[in-house]
Amino acid sequence: MSDRYLDFANSGVGHWLTGALGLPQPVPIDRDPVRLARSALVADAGGGRLGGLLTRELERLGVARAVEAGADALIVDATGCATVAGTGELYRIFHDSLRGVRPNGRIVLLAHDPAQAPNEEAAAIWRGLEGFLRSLAKEARRAIAAQLVYVPVEGEPALGSTLGFLLSGRSAYASGQAIRVGVAAVGPTGQKRTVLVTGASRGIGAAIAESFARAGAHVVGLDMPGAQEALAEQAVRLGGSALALDITAPDAPGRIVEDARARGGYDVIVHNAGITRDKTIARMDADRWNAVMEVNLAAPMRVTAALLDAGQIRGGGRIVAVSSLSGIAGNVGQTNYAFSKAGVIGWIQRLAREVAPAGITANAVAPGFIETQMTAAVPFTIRQAGRRMNSMGQGGQPEDVAETIGWLADPGSAGISGEIVRVCGQSLLGA
Ligand code: NAD
Repeated sequence: MSDRYLDFANSGVGHWLTGALGLPQPVPIDRDPVRLARSALVADAGGGRLGGLLTRELERLGVARAVEAGADALIVDATGCATVAGTGELYRIFHDSLRGVRPNGRIVLLAHDPAQAPNEEAAAIWRGLEGFLRSLAKEARRAIAAQLVYVPVEGEPALGSTLGFLLSGRSAYASGQAIRVGVAAVGPTGQKRTVLVTGASRGIGAAIAESFARAGAHVVGLDMPGAQEALAEQAVRLGGSALALDITAPDAPGRIVEDARARGGYDVIVHNAGITRDKTIARMDADRWNAVMEVNLAAPMRVTAALLDAGQIRGGGRIVAVSSLSGIAGNVGQTNYAFSKAGVIGWIQRLAREVAPAGITANAVAPGFIETQMTAAVPFTIRQAGRRMNSMGQGGQPEDVAETIGWLADPGSAGISGEIVRVCGQSLLGA
């Protein structure tokens, strides 16, 4: 779906006119998945403990250390900042360097997890960084994405896959997020993985299937029997397999377990299939309520439980569910949908604890306004509002969601579980 305003604001006359009228001037997002920041300015906000780890990881990624402002990325270690007085250094770093971050650049702020704060002041400062980072992300503009990464107070966090993601074009539309990365043993990488993607025949699901296949995985694309043709074509194109079934059917969990068993288990499960049946609660019939709760919430829980019971999610496995910004912010006409998508968050946070002993992680993404057939059907003015009301000033693409899921499912992301990551360009909706 083309975004004419974005094109216009970036034409010669359009840029001048939007500037003169004080209208938004969104910068086109460079979402090239292989693009990585060439240089990063790394700063310590005072007594940080991650300097050595950052040096090693940046070297491994091939990101050069910048010596002054004017880099693709600004990485700040704030793990040593635990007092109000200590925030002065943080102020100075960003005051001096924020403007030097190049368009489409990245900001990564690393800090200790407030849940582990040793005293009230540290708890206040570490949590305060969330408000600080979210404001920075809004001020940065120019398609710059900024995130806060919380790490435990002790041990070496498994940061590799997260830095690789955050410094790349893959994280283009996730901004203003606070992500917890723990200490974890990272399993072997480079093995061919088997990935189940539900709702794979179109939209976000198709982008997820493609990005996993590009990364070398065998993708089992699942969708409704009516989508069989598109699924079969996709399976041939991606060298994967097709599974045509309705996830709400009584025999669905059994058939999925059977498929997993035939393949020696799944490494990754992506619960992407979802539906909307919008009506305000007073006008909503029970069928709309039940259908949404079944597809978006009950079926993913049943399928996952069946796979776990049958031991068909391999050790080191990854479960990623697709929630929605509606589940966080709520939306008129979407009591059923928002309920189900908030339910996904509650389920995933609990599931993460249960599967941890098996080395399996469970996370969710919450997309905002993504350009798909679903949002193309939204009335013009609401569509325009959805596109502009975020820090990027434009809608996201299905691949933005897919790449975020790919990062959470990465073998290197063993230290991330129970996280809910919004892919919304830092939408103004919700928290
Ligand atoms: P879409 O309607 O284009 O695709 C959804 C897919 O799920 C379809 O192929 C559909 O056939 C499949 N599906 C639906 N019910 C199924 C069932 N019972 N069994 C098997 N497959 C089933 O939607 P999309 O925009 O690509 O959305 C994908 C996911 O992202 C959904 O969970 C949606 O709620 C979520 N989401 C989308 C947006 C957005 O802006 N597009 C925003 C937030 C969340």
